[in-house]
Amino acid sequence: MAKGTIYVVTAPSGAGKTTLVAALLAADQQIQLSISYTSRPARSGEVEGKDYYFVDRAKFESMIASGDFLEWAEVYGNYYGTSRAWIESVIENGRDILLEIDWQGAQQVTKLFPESVGIFVLPPSIATLEQRLRARGKDTEEVIQQRMSKAREEMGHVSEAQYVIINEHIDDAVRDIISVVRAERLRGERQAIRHAALVEALKA
Ligand code: 5GP
Repeated sequence: MAKGTIYVVTAPSGAGKTTLVAALLAADQQIQLSISYTSRPARSGEVEGKDYYFVDRAKFESMIASGDFLEWAEVYGNYYGTSRAWIESVIENGRDILLEIDWQGAQQVTKLFPESVGIFVLPPSIATLEQRLRARGKDTEEVIQQRMSKAREEMGHVSEAQYVIINEHIDDAVRDIISVVRAERLRGERQAIRHAALVEALKA
């Protein structure tokens, strides 16, 4: 059986990544979303085991020491990490996985799984990004400027992804991400495993 594919989706906050990923997962039942661990406190409305597994810093650090993470990083002063055991069991079973992680995590995953597929989501302009960050509501000017500077840092890593989606109109961006997954599934080396019997029969 062919192993599953790992899709790594990276974006600055404000690019609309969460909406885009939710639409892809709704359209494609073969992809499983990886739920990360974080030491950040839950925001209102966030659900344990759906948005994240929320743990304290001490627990997170003991999980690092035990090698429980495939990758982990510190973002905005909080730890975030991907469970190694879960990822390994899902791809061994031929299912695809989607990771929503930052550029530091994406680099670690690419090293471990060079065949993983990196997708970077960009806003159509800096002005739009800033407007989207402001539209979230109650953040102070200082927090907004911090997020903008973090976003620029993240976007400095855009060339590390194989695919880049500009999220100007969400419907177009959803079509784009669905097309990426479809194209990846049609790659010759994956089709050769999936349709080995057919290829043999056609050659005979
Ligand atoms: P937030 O706190 O807004 O949910 O996420 C902050 C940042 O952490 C985002 O850029 C998100 O992609 C990143 N992130 C979330 N989970 C992980 C993870 O498991 N690993 C890494 N490296 N980054 C993550």
